[in-house]
Amino acid sequence: MENGMRTKYIEFTSEDSPEFIEAAMALREGRLVAFPTETVYGLGANALDSNAVRAIYDAKGRPADNPLIVHIADLEMLKPLVTEIKPDALKLISAYWPGPLTIILKKSGIVPEITTGGLDTVAVRMPDNFIALELIKKAGVPVAAPSANRSGKPSPTMAKHVLEDLDGRISYIIDGGPCKVGVESTVVDMTVDPAIILRPGGITPEMIERVIGRVELDKSILGKKAVDRPRAPGMKYRHYAPRAEVYVVSGSSEDIAAWLRSAVSEDEKSGKKSVILAAKEHIQEYGLEHAVSYGSINNASEIASNIFRLFRECDRMGTEKIYVEAIPREGIGLAVMNRIEKAAGGRIIHAGK
Ligand code: AMP
Ligand code: MG
Repeated sequence: MENGMRTKYIEFTSEDSPEFIEAAMALREGRLVAFPTETVYGLGANALDSNAVRAIYDAKGRPADNPLIVHIADLEMLKPLVTEIKPDALKLISAYWPGPLTIILKKSGIVPEITTGGLDTVAVRMPDNFIALELIKKAGVPVAAPSANRSGKPSPTMAKHVLEDLDGRISYIIDGGPCKVGVESTVVDMTVDPAIILRPGGITPEMIERVIGRVELDKSILGKKAVDRPRAPGMKYRHYAPRAEVYVVSGSSEDIAAWLRSAVSEDEKSGKKSVILAAKEHIQEYGLEHAVSYGSINNASEIASNIFRLFRECDRMGTEKIYVEAIPREGIGLAVMNRIEKAAGGRIIHAGK
């Protein structure tokens, strides 16, 4: 897509407003529309229209082998996209849709190769957001939608983040306020047995196991080195990253605090602009001039909803180094740690060792 097109910014008021209907029609006809979901803002295109989908890759600068998630508004929309829906997949769908769970199934012939990055499988989800569901319903087509950021940048959790990255590259942005969850959906591959979680997200492994029994975690999630041919192709790229260097700092609270205090004092001496993103319970350890709260250590959901916004705010302040206190990989904490580690691109510090 040509840079320099006009991007129409719509503040959502009602699903019956003329501009909302205009955006839905444009989406159906092959234009790009960014819209809120419960996870992050998505950049939507008609998933069945190869040219429209190609425009997503162009606008984002996204590598062509990184497949897209297809968003639907009801189960009737799912059937034509896939060859079959096995009982376990159906169980997950009834338990967690609409919601932050993406399911990978064998694709049918109507889904263009470009939508799935050349794979014979398709990733599908039903978002738990009124505006997203109304937009898809009105467009009347399944909507391919990756996160609405330039490739590699932190995902947008507010409409203004989309504007920062994509103004002049897409046709519409629908502002529906901040996203509730703040990290992307869980991606689970249901074409294999046992099922494998390829990306952790808002639906935790425990929540999936409760419904279908044993599920595996892809090695890339467990902090191991990525395999040559990752199962979720997108996960091999550096991701979610602000301009600043990101460091994840783990260890006991005392070791983390000691390491961080000495790191920021050295940065201060050498004139480096650095910031600590820490639990609100720990801020006083570092002082307000060095640290910003990402939420309570006892509330990983709160941290999830803040982390991408904080990365972007650090960029705006011209921060050169961001130190992030690690959190336990429990519940949605697994997804938060996955995003922070990707943003760090290997800068992982074990304090006290
Ligand atoms: P994004 O839309 O930017 O949140 O990224 C979508 C994620 O889903 C990426 O990590 C993709 O690699 C993954 N994904 C999408 N479709 C498939 C598929 N058919 N098989 C495996 N992973 C997929
Ligand atoms: Mg993304």
